[in-house]
Amino acid sequence: MSPWFPRWHIYAPVLLVETEQGLVLVDTGLGLHDYERPSPVVRFFSADFGILKNPGLAAVRQLEGLGIQPGDVSHIVLTHLHFDHAGGLPDFPQAQVHVHRREYEAMRRPRSWIELGYDPQDVAHAPRWVLHDQPDAKWYGFEAIRLPFTPEMFLIPLFGHTRGHCGVAIWDGKTSGEPHWLFQCADSLPTDAAFDLTPAWLNRLVIGPHVPRLKEFAAAHPEVRLLAGHMTVRRTVLPG
Ligand SMILES: [Zn+2]
Repeated sequence: MSPWFPRWHIYAPVLLVETEQGLVLVDTGLGLHDYERPSPVVRFFSADFGILKNPGLAAVRQLEGLGIQPGDVSHIVLTHLHFDHAGGLPDFPQAQVHVHRREYEAMRRPRSWIELGYDPQDVAHAPRWVLHDQPDAKWYGFEAIRLPFTPEMFLIPLFGHTRGHCGVAIWDGKTSGEPHWLFQCADSLPTDAAFDLTPAWLNRLVIGPHVPRLKEFAAAHPEVRLLAGHMTVRRTVLPG
């Protein structure tokens, strides 16, 4: 719950994708350790943003509720390495972790205040990194890096929020007639492409320069569903 918007919860969507290469998580949200033994970074931000103290919200617990064990998740694709997107990494220690090389390097040597949001606890177990840095495709005109999955998935560099921040585009052909691409824009988009709580100058400072282009893109492409890294739901929707 945000103390600034007390009627709303802001949550971080975690996507689970079935591929021919196994189950893929796109971002992890907070992990068990963030709820049970929060590090100074997490304690600092939780004072600010009011993170719920409910480990049942961790991806690993929610997946167990669906009958999926941590070892069933073969790959994790990360938009960036901030603690609220990568905190669940230690809960899936065997997964291959796909991230942009610039983001990995930013975590190793943070340069700006926004890059202080990396939590060393998230990577203390030495994840099985798969680093990507060569755009080898175009996706709707965006420079894209094809990820090794079927259905198609692309890492879309959207640098700005952090040095190596990326979006992730996921083919979702099963919902034909409905939007059939998901585009997780993560922290390059404020809460929602259509509903925006924050002014443009603040967006530019905190989440980078891509908001106007992404809003135009969302309006022009109803077949693509854009997600943000932090979306809003009414308090009644989530367990407290
Ligand atoms: Zn972030």
